[in-house]
Amino acid sequence: MEEVKECLFCAIASGRVKADVVYRDSGTVAFRDVDPKAPDHVLVIPLKHIASLSAMRDEDTLLMGKLINTARKVAHKLSLKSYRIVINNGRDAGQSVFHVHAHLLGGRQFGWPPG
Ligand code: AMP
Repeated sequence: MEEVKECLFCAIASGRVKADVVYRDSGTVAFRDVDPKAPDHVLVIPLKHIASLSAMRDEDTLLMGKLINTARKVAHKLSLKSYRIVINNGRDAGQSVFHVHAHLLGGRQFGWPPG
């Protein structure tokens, strides 16, 4: 039988894979990115597996709102006044892990437009 590989971020959400978790509630979890692109770089994920923003359904609207609210709470916890929230959707946009996540980036100056 073909082995089904577990989603990395589902494994982090369940605690089977270790991560530096900074916040958790009933719908979301936030943990530090292993390869930070800013002094503060936290990933916020829903506990529910949704592969990408494109795969989101109308019924996930509240959950995705909670995702952004969690990013706001984490930014406050880290005392970030200016920060950027990024969701990469699809490989060409830079998505490499197919469990929807928001990047919360802070602690440095950001350029615009993004690369
Ligand atoms: P994206 O490229 O938008 O899909 O973002 C995926 C992010 O996950 C990248 O910034 C990676 O550095 C990060 N990442 C990959 N594996 C882990 C891990 N085990 N723990 C924390 N962050 C990870």
